[in-house]
Amino acid sequence: MKITQNIKEVLKTLKRRKPAKIYCPRCGSPNIHLSSGFDYWLTPKKYVCEDCGYVGPIVMELEKEEKTKTS
Ligand SMILES: [Zn+2]
Repeated sequence: MKITQNIKEVLKTLKRRKPAKIYCPRCGSPNIHLSSGFDYWLTPKKYVCEDCGYVGPIVMELEKEEKTKTS
């Protein structure tokens, strides 16, 4: 039963294809996007911030309404 529930959750997550909103880790701007540059084969995943010029593989991802756990 529990397994079935988990699968349902996964399917629900997959169905909701909306990707998490991403933000620049440096300036917090949402104006950041995956670099689809010529060197994609060198660096498979790289993000470019148009506001501060940040380039790197790390972005802040925020799901909508998802409460971040504060420990
Ligand atoms: Zn930035």
